[in-house]
Amino acid sequence: MNGNLIRTDLHNHSCLSPCGSLEMSPEVLVQGAAARGIDILALTDHNSTRNLPAFAVCCRRAGITPVFGLEVNTFEEVHVVCLFRELGQAEKFGNLIEASLPDIANDPDIFGDQVIVDPDEQVLGFVDVSLFSSSSISFFDLVPLVLDRGGLVIPAHIDRPANGAVSQLGFLPDLPYSAVESLSLPPTAEVYSNTVITGSDAHYPASIGRRSFFISGYTEPTFDNLSSALRDGHVASVYRRYG
Ligand SMILES: [Zn+2]
Ligand SMILES: [Zn+2]
Repeated sequence: MNGNLIRTDLHNHSCLSPCGSLEMSPEVLVQGAAARGIDILALTDHNSTRNLPAFAVCCRRAGITPVFGLEVNTFEEVHVVCLFRELGQAEKFGNLIEASLPDIANDPDIFGDQVIVDPDEQVLGFVDVSLFSSSSISFFDLVPLVLDRGGLVIPAHIDRPANGAVSQLGFLPDLPYSAVESLSLPPTAEVYSNTVITGSDAHYPASIGRRSFFISGYTEPTFDNLSSALRDGHVASVYRRYG
């Protein structure tokens, strides 16, 4: 850690995500994050939590605080980062989201395999249903669903030309988010009183940590401190570039 600044990155993918690089195992993500001084790290694969057990072990080995998440693609095709303190909470929520996906098979020739691995990069299996699909759960229903389960809910890349709140809904609805993730700083959309963060959205090893941010005013990298920092706006961005 750097003084009382806790380097944090809450938006990352692994080889389970249809557009994630095959080499991006949880171990590669965690090792890359450790090399970049990240203290709190989330794994947020598209619509699935199946690589979180491996991620938990890799984080423990590396001394990084894990945050257990997924990036839900809502009915309106808005991407939302949903985060939990406990692995079990996240897995339960992941099961609910996977069950809300249409029964459309993944096409590995187009999107690549959706690979479940163990902490040592051994392949455990594949998810056959397309994780690229949109859930039957709407953006407006998803937000309270996550909050009621004690999670953090963060609309992802709200200003991206696709799959952000503004591109899909025309605006960011005024709902009780835990924070809002924006590519541009300051954000170009109305974000009300929400704390704005950046996220690396890393799909490849080279993009690990590229848009991490700092939480300030805390000494321990815990989920509770993260939660308070987002609520109270105790964050500083280390945003470097768009991409
Ligand atoms: Zn996204
Ligand atoms: Zn993403």
